[in-house]
Amino acid sequence: MIKKYLAAFVHLWYPHICLHCGTDQLANNSPLCLPCANVLPVTDFFDMENNPIEKIFWGRIAIQHASAALFFTKESIVQKLIFELKYKHNKKAGLFLGRIMGNALKNSSHYDNISLLIPIPISSKKIRKRGFNQALILCEGICQVWDKKIAANLLLKKQNSDSQTHKDRLERAGQDTFQFYLKNGQLLENENVLLIDDVITTGATLEAAFNCLEQARPASINIATAAYTL
Ligand SMILES: [Zn+2]
Repeated sequence: MIKKYLAAFVHLWYPHICLHCGTDQLANNSPLCLPCANVLPVTDFFDMENNPIEKIFWGRIAIQHASAALFFTKESIVQKLIFELKYKHNKKAGLFLGRIMGNALKNSSHYDNISLLIPIPISSKKIRKRGFNQALILCEGICQVWDKKIAANLLLKKQNSDSQTHKDRLERAGQDTFQFYLKNGQLLENENVLLIDDVITTGATLEAAFNCLEQARPASINIATAAYTL
């Protein structure tokens, strides 16, 4: 009885229909039906040397490899998936995106040496609001298809680094570098780490995270995101 009630309740929040076209013919554990999943705008960046994501960081930081799995455009399925993950508590959408990333990483020769996945942290205020850190859900999705360790509590976000509206732009830019800090940073030494985030646009957040991680002397720092804003 309780189970039935719970299932009905869950269905209210996460109706079992395709996020994009509304059909109830869902693929297993997927928020999309198969035809919609098959037309996702995948990049072929994971095996591409000097791909557009790596070029974002040229002249800024020494990334080993960087990739994004999907193209992010307005009013698209990808936008809907990211929106569901970030603002609708839809963990299933995040795990699905993570599995797409995981399969791309597993099939690429560039990421064989990765030992740790590090989700870009968000503030505890945002975690309370969203229910979870969306980058951590992506990591969990990746690990469903690619067996790696997740280090969720080594790179942390400083409190109050979200509320910067009263500061001018220069002051904010300076502070961006210091929005993260390390805990038990020695665990990163000589590791090949992969930073995980949902969307990459200018790369500013990932650059700040890179600069923080670098203090711990990892062997290499790599980046993978679910989507790339054109
Ligand atoms: Zn569909």
